[in-house]
Amino acid sequence: MHRRITGQLVIATHNPGKLVEMRELLAPYGIAAVSAGELGFIEPEETGDTFQANARIKAVAAAQASGLPAFADDSGLCVDALDGAPGIHSARWAGPSKDFVAAMTRIERLLQERGATAPDKRGAHFVSALCVAWPDGHVEEVEARVEGTLVWPPRGTAGFGYDPAFLPEGHQRTFGEMTAIEKHGLPPLGLGLSHRARAFVKLAEICLEPR
Ligand code: IMP
Repeated sequence: MHRRITGQLVIATHNPGKLVEMRELLAPYGIAAVSAGELGFIEPEETGDTFQANARIKAVAAAQASGLPAFADDSGLCVDALDGAPGIHSARWAGPSKDFVAAMTRIERLLQERGATAPDKRGAHFVSALCVAWPDGHVEEVEARVEGTLVWPPRGTAGFGYDPAFLPEGHQRTFGEMTAIEKHGLPPLGLGLSHRARAFVKLAEICLEPR
C-alpha cells in the first residue's frame, strides 16, 4: 500500500540548488517543507552504490532525526562514453569547493581523450532517485532520467551543477540556458522535462493528493 504525504515534510538536502527545485515542485501541493540544512541536521555519509540507496540513506536519516516524513533526492550525471561516470559521484567530482566548472572541464578532458567530439559520442543522462521516508520506517521510492548530450563550452548561467553542459534531447538550449519553469516546471506551466521533475511526477501519483 502506498502512503500519502500529509502535513509537514522535511526536505533532506543541504544542496541549495536542489532545495529550490524541490520546494518549487512541492509548492502546488500545499506541502510546508523545512530543509535538513535549516534544521541543523548533519549530512549523512552517502555510502550506497546506487542513486536509490543514497536517496534512502538521506531520507531515513532526516525522518529519524526530525520525527517527520522526509523527502530526499539523490541524483547525478551519467556520461555514456565514461561508463556512466561521474554517476553517484557527481557532487564529489566538484570537490569541497563545489567547483562545477572544474568538474565539467574534467569530463570534457576525458571525452577528448576518448575522441568523443561528435554529438553522437557525447550522450549522457541525468538520474534522479526520490525517496520519502517516514519515522516508522515506511518508504516510497521512484526514479527517472532525462537523456541528452554534453556540449562544450558550457552554455548559460541558470540552474546549478552540470546544467550548462547538458543539452536535453529534442531541445536547442542547455539546462543552463533554460528558465526554472522550462527545466523542471510541471504541466500546465512546463513540460516536466528534468529528471527530478519526471521522478516527482511519479512520486506525486503515489504520495500526493491530486491538485
Ligand atoms: P547528490 O545527489 O547530492 O549526491 O549530488 C548530485 C550532484 O549531481 C549535484 O551536486 C550536481 O552536481 C549533480 N546534479 C544533480 N541534479 C542536477 C541537475 O538538475 N542539474 C545539474 N547538476 C545536477
